[in-house]
Amino acid sequence: VTEAGRSADSEALAVLRRVFGYDAFRGEQEEIIEHVVAGEDAVVLMPTGGGKSLCYQIPALVRPGTGVVVSPLIALMQDQVDALRALGVRAGFINSTLDFDERRVVEAEFLAGELDLLYLAPERLRLDTTLDLLGRGKISVFAIDEAHCVSQWGHDFRPDYLTLSLLGERWPDVPRIALTATATRATHREITERLVMPRARHFEASFDRPNIQYRIVPKADPKKQLLSFLTQEHAGDAGIVYCLSRNSVEKTAEFLSRNGVEAVPYHAGLDAGTRAAHQARFLREEGLVVVATIAFGMGIDKPDVRFVAHLDLPKSVEGYYQETGRAGRDGLPSTAWMAYGLQDVVQQRKLIQTGEGDEAFRRRAAAHLDSMLALCETVQCRRGQLLAYFGQEPTPGGCGNCDTCLNPPETWDGTVAAQKLLSTVVRLQRERGQKFGAVQIIDILLGKRTGKVIQFDHDQLSVFGIGEELSDGEWRGVVRQLLAQGLLAVEGEYGTLVLTEGSGSVLRREREVPLRKEPKKPVAARAASGG
Ligand code: ADP
Ligand code: ZN
Repeated sequence: VTEAGRSADSEALAVLRRVFGYDAFRGEQEEIIEHVVAGEDAVVLMPTGGGKSLCYQIPALVRPGTGVVVSPLIALMQDQVDALRALGVRAGFINSTLDFDERRVVEAEFLAGELDLLYLAPERLRLDTTLDLLGRGKISVFAIDEAHCVSQWGHDFRPDYLTLSLLGERWPDVPRIALTATATRATHREITERLVMPRARHFEASFDRPNIQYRIVPKADPKKQLLSFLTQEHAGDAGIVYCLSRNSVEKTAEFLSRNGVEAVPYHAGLDAGTRAAHQARFLREEGLVVVATIAFGMGIDKPDVRFVAHLDLPKSVEGYYQETGRAGRDGLPSTAWMAYGLQDVVQQRKLIQTGEGDEAFRRRAAAHLDSMLALCETVQCRRGQLLAYFGQEPTPGGCGNCDTCLNPPETWDGTVAAQKLLSTVVRLQRERGQKFGAVQIIDILLGKRTGKVIQFDHDQLSVFGIGEELSDGEWRGVVRQLLAQGLLAVEGEYGTLVLTEGSGSVLRREREVPLRKEPKKPVAARAASGG
């Protein structure tokens, strides 16, 4: 370490202690901060709650000039800026919620060098006026928060993020740090390419939260299941219960309160005063349960949340990880518990089909849902599956702290089924040069002469009708689980099925494919009638 490096280093630590009141850096924070303070670019992948903010806030305070933070979370800017100001940091923001005069004040502060941090919405950077403004001030660092928004594959894609590549062109001497909590390997690559950060160093924190026990149970009578989970394992503990609809939030909160668990609802339909009061109680009290839609929890930092329960299926693994990640920030044992039923799948598919967005958006949403389902259905370690989803190495031999590790699920030998399915994919590709999605593959296996099967002559394939021993639903289970095990992959805009490196070993009969038994019908029927 050079003399200059060491002094920047200790200055960062001094700022951490003096301004933020913390004793030590966490994980890779110090290395990241040191790197950016030295003027280099960085791409940071760190889970929610990992401490990303300090990675750009401290360089902004240490380096001369203003740190410009690009964030799409307009609703959080005011809170972030207020929190920083409370610590004595000179922070401001410019977004569409400011009127002309308010904006002028912030602009003047920036130009006078009176701001340590300036938060901007990405759409601002499309405007010449903003670029002119930035050009007339002194910038210490650019932080690009939620950097996965640049990925056209992600569910959070923001076209405005594509314009951020100009920052490097226009300010080649200002270091840039791109941060995200949700990035698969492919997204990581996309961030580097689209933001044009070829020399950036990549920092990747582990996504493992060893103190969280992951459990997913078949949904039968969800409210009762929740109640017994809470009373048996988390009596008197603070926690969050997530539901999809406001109606089920209200009903669940009432149900819990009636049954001796202190619970309050939280959703966008409540007035701001009630929401603020419930949130304040949650932060202050020790054993309160908040029943909420996903709006709750963003930016909330309560270390002793002992459980997060899902009564409805999250829309994506990212969402699930983020929501469950609000449990156990203090490092003490916590539970991520979810009840999941077939009705969830039906409901979510319908939401995707009838919801907003174009065809590409729907396909992405469907792919996200499939990954979530794969997590629900895996016979393998749930933590391992989560880590693999984020492109990280799972614990060999299982984690020992999830339901599938603690209680291995009932399985059936899906080897033959997997071979049939994979050989259908192979045949189509080798003999016809075609790729198809799951629906067509399953129709072929089941020997269904649908319009599309006839149109492509697929009833002439030797594999036509070789899978009649399973139902349509069971085949979909096979597909989802093969995807989950990495023995099959989905590709491109049309969600076509393609082989992976692992597929060969199944086709060559070198490995067995254990599959989790599909939830039994009575469970699904009860879940459906129970709402
Ligand atoms: P992220 O943006 O990655 O979700 P935050 O930056 O909001 O995470 O940090 C999460 C919480 O951890 C915040 O309350 C933050 O103040 C706290 N934190 C971050 N770094 C440290 C540290 N080195 N020591 C103690 N607390 C920290
Ligand atoms: Zn496990």
